[in-house]
Formats: sequence, structure tokens, C-alpha cells
Amino acid sequence: MPSVQLAMGLDPWTLWSLILLIAALLAGVMLFAWWLTPRETALAYWSVAFVLLGLSMLGGVLREHLPAFAAIQLANAAILLAYALLWAGMRCFAGRRVSSLAVLAAPVLWIALTLVPPFRDSVAMRIALLSGVACVFIGLTMFELWSSPTRHLRTRKILFAMLAMMWVLNAARIPFASSMTIGGKLAVFSDARLAWFGLSGIAITLFLSFALIILVRERQEMLYRSASLIDELTGLLNRRGFLQQAAMAFPRSGPVAVMMLDLDRFKQINDQYGHAFGDRVLALFAKVLRDNLRQSDVAARLGGEEFGILLPGTKLSDAGRIAETIRRGFAEVTLAMVPDGLPQGVRGSVSIGLSLAELADAGPQPRPASSTLLDAMVRQADEALYRAKMNGRDRTEFAVFDPTRVNPAA
Ligand code: GH3
Ligand code: MG
Ligand code: MG
Repeated sequence: MPSVQLAMGLDPWTLWSLILLIAALLAGVMLFAWWLTPRETALAYWSVAFVLLGLSMLGGVLREHLPAFAAIQLANAAILLAYALLWAGMRCFAGRRVSSLAVLAAPVLWIALTLVPPFRDSVAMRIALLSGVACVFIGLTMFELWSSPTRHLRTRKILFAMLAMMWVLNAARIPFASSMTIGGKLAVFSDARLAWFGLSGIAITLFLSFALIILVRERQEMLYRSASLIDELTGLLNRRGFLQQAAMAFPRSGPVAVMMLDLDRFKQINDQYGHAFGDRVLALFAKVLRDNLRQSDVAARLGGEEFGILLPGTKLSDAGRIAETIRRGFAEVTLAMVPDGLPQGVRGSVSIGLSLAELADAGPQPRPASSTLLDAMVRQADEALYRAKMNGRDRTEFAVFDPTRVNPAA
């Protein structure tokens, strides 16, 4: 018997038990990961998929003691359902809808087909169909993964490569299908090639399951990290987020503007109309900023009623125009707050300080770090803002920033 027994010095029973143990372990690890992050329903789909794989393995082990219907029809239907759930889980992870009809179609069709005699009696046809359908689901899973908004996740490529290997393994089984025989005790291991397919499949499945868990955990971690940089009330960045993102978005050369904005007499607004009203004014101001800024600008609520914006590539004239649009826009939206059942006739005003710089191409000379330049410009814009307050509020004051005066070693 050219079996794995010869190739590996292990008897099929040991291998089967090992496989079963691994399947149970994977299902357990998946369930544990789901328990840690219950909102990630994809993990539930995947843990069920691994339970099904385990059950189908059990069907294989007990093949001789089970009726043919359970050993062939049900065990293989469980494998197909597991692949369908792999795909469904990925759709769920990508935030897409899962159709239970699409998930159940393949296993149900499989059972129906295996009731038809020529198909039921042909091992080759069964293996070819199983592998073909598995390939379709793996392909769909790869598509979902690649088209989902996960570009920033590092696990994505590794997972994609594993799915591709799994696809190849299943596809490679199809040409062999016609020459395979399954018979006798512990069927799958009576053919060494089939056994090797099985073993490689198990190894890939093992890595795949961990990659799936890591993918979910990586996204969770990303969400937590970005949540700590976001201001909850306005949805803008907070001070930490601003310092981090603005330093990254700070241009190497060309014009750049930093704007500091502080709502005028905000304490009075709070005192007169209540804190909740004040909160709505803050959220409204953030909306005015969003409506008037470009994708490349970095806007943040630095604290209280103080905001900051980095405008890369913005010249003095443009920065002045943007500041005016924000100032007027804010006055207009606060005057129009009536539909929300809020006080009429409140006119919100904001004082703005602008720091503007023209960065020369650094060339070979050392240049201060972006964060150092940003810090210095924020300070200068703050001084301009202070002047705007002193000069009567509801206005913009400018200052031209000289980058050469910043010590590169700072
Ligand atoms: P100025 O024109 O000089 O800037 O006067 P101001 O009243 O705006 O400035 P001041 O610094 O005296 O007051 C800021 C107020 O902002 C005081 C504080 O209660 C209020 N504030 C800070 N954070 C929040 C918030 O999250 N929600 C609300 N509603 N108010 C806030
Ligand atoms: Mg203020
Ligand atoms: Mg203030």
C-alpha cells in the first residue's frame, strides 16, 4: 500500500487523530478570538467553518462505521459549507451583506447530486466537483478580501497568498481525480497523493486560520489607535492626532499655512444657552471646517473651542480667502440654527491667526524636522490669533514665517 504510513512512519489512525485535534484546536482558537471581539461576526462564521471541517474529518475517521450517506454526502457537504462560510465571513468582515441562500446552495446541491447514481458511484466526479466548488469559494473569498477596505492592513497580503495556495491545491486535485481510488480502511490515506494533498491542505488551513484571526485583531488595534486620535464631539482629530498627522502631511517644499482658530466669547454662549447648545455650536463649526477644506488639509479640535488646521501647498492669498470663508460660513450657520429648535439671532464669530511659509527646496543642507517646523508655525499662528483677539475679535491676523530662523538641530 503506497501510503503515508510509508512516507512518514505514522499510521493513518495517528494522522487522523492529529488532524481532528488540529481542527478542534482551530475552532477553539477562533471561538476564543470571537469571544474577545464579539462585534467581529466574521470570526463566528469562521469558527463554525472549522467546526464543520472537524466534523467532516470525524466522518472520514468513522467512515467504516457510518452509513454511506453520513460518510460521503454529509461529510462532504460539511466541507463545502465550511468553504462557503469562509467566503461569507470575509464578506461580513468587509461590511457586506451575507445571503444565507448563497451559503447553503452548494452543500444542498451537493447532497442532491450525490443521490444521483452515476455521480454517487464516481469517486473522480465527486473529487472534481468538490475541488471545483472549493476553488470557486476560495476565489470569491480572495476577491472579497482584495476589494474590501483593508489596504492598510499588513496581514492582507499574507492571507491572500495563503488563499491562493489553497486555491492551487484544490485546483491541482482536479486532474488527479480520475486516477484516484478511495477504498478500504481510512480511505483517504490509501492513496499517497491524496494524502499529501490532505496534509498540505491542513498545514495551509492552520496558517490561514491564524492569519484570519490576526487580520481581525489588526483591524481592531487600528480602530483603537485611531479612536485615541479623534475628538468625539466633532469627529475631527484631537491635539495628539493633529500633531501626528500634520507632521506627516507637512510639505518638504513650497507654500504651507497653519491656521489657529478660537471661537469668540464662547463662555457667554455657554452661559446664556447652556452647555448642550455650546456643544452643538462646536459640532457645527467643525462641519463648516470640513465643508471648506480639501482632503489634503489636516483639521483638528485642539481643545475647548480652539481649532487648528494645516494647509499644505496653500499660499497667503488662498489662506486668507479660506479663513474668510470659514469666518462667514460660521456666522451664517449659527444664525440659521432655528430649525433645530435652538435660539435665533445668535451669531457665532471666530478669531483666526495664520502663519504662512514658503519652504525652499532643502537640497543637501540639513533641514529642521517637520514636527519642529510645525511647532514653530503653530506658535506663530497662536500669536497672530492673540492679536486678532486684541484687535476686536471676528477677524484674521497674518504672520509670515521664516523657516531659516529655525535651528535645524532643534
Ligand atoms: P474669547 O473670545 O476670548 O476666546 O472668549 P471665550 O469665552 O471664548 O474664551 P474662554 O477661554 O474664556 O472660554 C472658553 C469656554 O469654552 C469655557 C468653556 O466652558 C467652554 N468650553 C470648553 N470646552 C467645551 C465643550 O466641550 N463644550 C462646551 N459647550 N463648552 C466648552
Ligand atoms: Mg474663545
Ligand atoms: Mg479659547
